[in-house]
Amino acid sequence: MPARVSEALVLRTYPLKEADLVVSFLTRDQGKLRGVAKRARRPKSPFGAGLERLSHVRMAYFQRETRELVNLDSCELIHSQFGLVSDYWASVALDYFAEVCEQMLPSAEPSERFFRLLLAVLDYLPAAGGDAGRPWRAVTYFSLWAVRLSGWLPELNVCLSCGALLDDAADPGGAPERAFFSRSRPGLVCSHCRSVAGGGHWELSAESRWIAAEMLRTPVSQLSRSQWDQDTAADLRRFLVQQIESHVERRLITAPLLDEKIG
Ligand SMILES: [Zn+2]
Repeated sequence: MPARVSEALVLRTYPLKEADLVVSFLTRDQGKLRGVAKRARRPKSPFGAGLERLSHVRMAYFQRETRELVNLDSCELIHSQFGLVSDYWASVALDYFAEVCEQMLPSAEPSERFFRLLLAVLDYLPAAGGDAGRPWRAVTYFSLWAVRLSGWLPELNVCLSCGALLDDAADPGGAPERAFFSRSRPGLVCSHCRSVAGGGHWELSAESRWIAAEMLRTPVSQLSRSQWDQDTAADLRRFLVQQIESHVERRLITAPLLDEKIG
C-alpha cells in the first residue's frame, strides 16, 4: 500500500456514512482521483479546512491497485478560497470550475496542463482594484482552454459545412463573415449554411471570436484590460458550455447561474 503525496485541488466532497467524506480531487501528477477521508466530518480531523471546494493542498493518500477509491490520510493546506466567499460572481466561478473538472476530466489520467490552467484562473480570480470583469474573463478563459486541452475545440475561423473562411472581411474594410453555432453541431457555420440548416442557431460575434483568439495565445494574467461585464463574450461561453455538455452528455448545473441577472 504505497503512500503518496500529491499537490492537488479539491473538486468536491460527498458525505459517506456518519463521519466520512468521499473527496474528488485533481492532482498535478495523477490526474483526477477519488478517495475516502475517514472521520473528516469530526472535529479535529486531520483534514482541517483543507477539503473545501478548490482548496489547494498537499494530499497524502494510499493507493491500491485494485480499488477505485484511494484512502486519504491527511492534507496540508497551501491556499484556500475563503477570501472569495463574499464575492458572488467569484463564488459562482468556483462552482463552475469544480463542476467542469468533475464532469469532463477522465479519472486517473494525468494532465499537468489542465492542473496549471485551473491554478492560473484561481490565481487570477481575486478582484484587484475593483476590476469586476475578472470572474468573466476567468470563466471564459477556463472554458476555452478546458475545451481545447480536451481536444474538442473546433476551428473558429472556418465554416464547418462549406469550409468558407469566417474571419476574412468580404472586402477590404468590410465586416467579417458572420458565424453561428447550434447545440447539435461541433463547430461554426457561415450565414449561408445556417439559413440552409434552419433554426436553433446563436451567433458568435466577431468580437467574441477576437477574444477567443487572444485567449488562445495569451496567459490569463496578461489579457488586455478592456472593460468586461456579464454580457462580454456571453455568446462564446454559451458556445463552449454547449461543446462541453455535448461531450459529457449532460447539462452543467452551474452554467445557467452564469447567465442569471442579479441586482
Ligand atoms: Zn458555410
